[in-house]
Amino acid sequence: MKKQIAILGSTGSIGTQALEVIEEHSDLYEVYCLTANNRVKELAEQARKFKPAAVVIANESHYEELKSMLADCPDINVYAGKQALDDIVTAGPIDMVLTAMVGFAGLSPTIQAIKAHKKICLANKETLVVAGELICKLAAENHAPILPVDSEHSAIFQSIVGEGDNKIEKILLTASGGPFRTFSTEQLATVTKDHALHHPTWDMGAKITIDSATMMNKGFEVIEAKWLFGVEADRIQVLVHPQSIVHSAVQFADGAVKAQLGVPDMRLPIQYAFSFPERLHLNGERLDLFKHNLEFFEPDLNKFRCLALAYEAINKGGNMPCIVNAANEIVNRGFLEDRCSFLDMPRIIERTMQTVAFDANPSYDTYIATDAEARRVAKELMG
Ligand code: NAD
Ligand code: MG
Repeated sequence: MKKQIAILGSTGSIGTQALEVIEEHSDLYEVYCLTANNRVKELAEQARKFKPAAVVIANESHYEELKSMLADCPDINVYAGKQALDDIVTAGPIDMVLTAMVGFAGLSPTIQAIKAHKKICLANKETLVVAGELICKLAAENHAPILPVDSEHSAIFQSIVGEGDNKIEKILLTASGGPFRTFSTEQLATVTKDHALHHPTWDMGAKITIDSATMMNKGFEVIEAKWLFGVEADRIQVLVHPQSIVHSAVQFADGAVKAQLGVPDMRLPIQYAFSFPERLHLNGERLDLFKHNLEFFEPDLNKFRCLALAYEAINKGGNMPCIVNAANEIVNRGFLEDRCSFLDMPRIIERTMQTVAFDANPSYDTYIATDAEARRVAKELMG
């Protein structure tokens, strides 16, 4: 029986690479459902090719257009809206849900998929940043495994396979450092979105590329690692590693360090999340260690304030990471639309953290309210 996969965010960077993996292993996997937010044409093309049982366009204003584009495909059910996303992930035939959409929008469908006992292949790290505690609790209660797709977390996961109950002493989380790794604070003051959108080692969606330039992405990944692997932030060390070859490592009680290495290629962690515990063939470049000079540096938290703010949020706990995530989504969009500068981003996030009411024991409803309030405050601060 082929495994049935739902891809949330199929038109994005992770989504399209996931479809490459599925195409390559069409004897093992089948697409049950594809979803996107706005890219109707791409979604319709993907649907024609992969023939899923359903497609969902999150932005309802595109429904008629999508429906007419697929008018000659009566076997594909077309839906629209956020509720449709929440509903479709619970469909009986689905084995795995790949969460590859951007931002807070991933929270609700991920929760529904977990409650429906689906295996979660998690790319949407914002879900764990916002509500890691709730998600882990629900996943345990519902016996829904969460497999990491983020390359660092996949590397950590690959390093602990076979270790049984052996405790993790420390996680070594690598970061490329982004395009501004060597810049001074003065230089950071004038960088543009065009420059920020040119990541040195990874080709990704716009939001995560900006998050990589500010290093907020790495802060989010510390939070993600804490929840996925049950390791507190003070035992997660960030190492700037500009070559992006060592994807992350784990240190054990005897001092042994295990890492996963490879050329930067997101298809590997995507495929491993699908196929675990098996490894499947993957076409592509093989690592030639003679070609790479591997370097490691300490991150500069004074220059990359977003990373420091993320650590602050983890230590504070409660709804603070949710506040940071919401403020970050606003300033990230603001920077992409030339409405704030690079250094405005951490300033606005920090002020939002000081303004929005703190809640040490948030419920799902708290997260929804906190997200809305933090967005409002950050927007107001951005002007
Ligand atoms: P992207 O912008 O390339 O694609 C995002 C996809 O999600 C698109 O299909 C879009 O239509 C859909 N989408 C966007 N907003 C939505 C909404 N509100 N509701 C429903 N669908 C929506 O993004 P990406 O780079 O593929 O990243 C996706 C997720 O994976 C992010 O959480 C990111 O942090 C994570 N991730 C990405 C990479 C990477 O290499 N791109 C690596 C690690 C983790
Ligand atoms: Mg990553």
